[in-house]
Amino acid sequence: MEHLPIFLNVKGRRTLVVGSGVTAARKADLLLRAGSDVTIVSPEIGEELSQLRASYEFTHKSSALAAEDLQGCLVVFACSGDDAVNQRLCKFAADAGIMVNVADNTENCDFTMPAVVDRTPLLIAISTGGSSPLLTRMLKARFETTIPAAYGRLAEFAGSYRDRIKAMVPDLTRRRRFWESMISGPVAEHLFSSQVEEADLLMENLLDEAAKEGDQPPDGEVYLVGTGPGDPDLLTFRALRLMQQADVVLYDRLIGEGILNLVRRDAERIYVGKLTNDHSVPQEEIGNMLIRLARQGKRVLRLKGGDPFVFGRGGEEIEALSENGVTFQVIPGVTAAVGCASYSGIPLTHRDHAQGCMFVTGHEKDGKLNLNWKSLIQPRQTVVVYMGLSSMAAITKGFIANGADPATPAAVIENGTRAGQRVITGTLESLSEQTAVAGIKSPALIIIGGVVTLRDKLSWFANKTREQRNIANGPG
Ligand code: SAH
Repeated sequence: MEHLPIFLNVKGRRTLVVGSGVTAARKADLLLRAGSDVTIVSPEIGEELSQLRASYEFTHKSSALAAEDLQGCLVVFACSGDDAVNQRLCKFAADAGIMVNVADNTENCDFTMPAVVDRTPLLIAISTGGSSPLLTRMLKARFETTIPAAYGRLAEFAGSYRDRIKAMVPDLTRRRRFWESMISGPVAEHLFSSQVEEADLLMENLLDEAAKEGDQPPDGEVYLVGTGPGDPDLLTFRALRLMQQADVVLYDRLIGEGILNLVRRDAERIYVGKLTNDHSVPQEEIGNMLIRLARQGKRVLRLKGGDPFVFGRGGEEIEALSENGVTFQVIPGVTAAVGCASYSGIPLTHRDHAQGCMFVTGHEKDGKLNLNWKSLIQPRQTVVVYMGLSSMAAITKGFIANGADPATPAAVIENGTRAGQRVITGTLESLSEQTAVAGIKSPALIIIGGVVTLRDKLSWFANKTREQRNIANGPG
């Protein structure tokens, strides 16, 4: 993070704006709306600042900026069109240890001002740290149209009940559930349509119910969520919703940072993937952990790369849950084969090349591949091998030894759908060597069959762009 986002309480506190134009007026407007005691220093007052006079009071000082002007100020703003004046303010501010904001000059700022969507008391602040003001404006416009004005009313209403509910429902998890049912239920609906009295009545009902339930921990639940192969855009709405309401999350190596960032910030995080000594937490232990946490009344999120039921051991995990009477939901995800196929331009089936597709694991058991070669080596069929990187040589050799044409097209996709995706295409004969040369690492998926040749055709755009830009046709 480049900056620390904070919301400053300027109510009744002195602030200083140096300048008289539109920028000075915008800053002054925000400061006055937040209740600050504002002083403007500038020889005269511009049109926009004069208009502010109609709604607010502020002090105007027309004499030249002096160090005393900063006395007692919480923050100061340099908005003068005159660089020398702005620099003078920066110097005074630095001497006095007061934070300064210089308009249109992020480098000299102690703090920047975000774009604001104001639904007081709800505030949304947006910043790109000065890298793209246009993106900031676009996002602001989007929020302005999608966040109803009534959300401010909702926040205010919730605030008026906050202390009472805190006292009545001391258990944190239960209290959060209470707020969730309030914010996404009929209370909010009534508020949105300005029926405050009805909302109050419904709220009293909810409080009565909460009082009856006492302070027992609520029932827990497990969400077994498929997250897709890595690109967070491939999550389902349902996955995202459950990720946002989890109390604790269990994840492993296949879950990228981008996806973890979408899990509720306050959720406890437990890593259950491979440890430094290369040993994973045993499946049984993960199962027990899920059960234990759910029994504590928690909403337990188990994140699975791809789809939980495709080489994901999801079946084993829910078996343990159902044996122990723990409620669960399974949320499907885009499996690696499907994600890698579309992001690399290799269709898994195609009228002219493959009428079927097989997903197999290349994981060796006791040093041996356990594959049914006869069923794999069929005309017009695509074979996708999961977990096949370390046994790549044995797999490709096995295909050839069992009668496949050594010239059968084959591809390996590393980090499919993620930022560092690499694709290497070759044949059964060449792929293992190419993979070693390129230093392909896990996670990687192998696709075997005629469909691989379509990549070049379907990636015509990338190829054309490369040609135009005169870039060598490397992997990727
Ligand atoms: N349940 C997962 C598969 C887990 S097995 C799913 O449905 O996708 C782990 C294997 O999946 C890896 O060894 C690799 O072969 C494949 N895999 C998962 N994510 C991948 C990615 N982003 N790129 C390439 N292969 C991936």
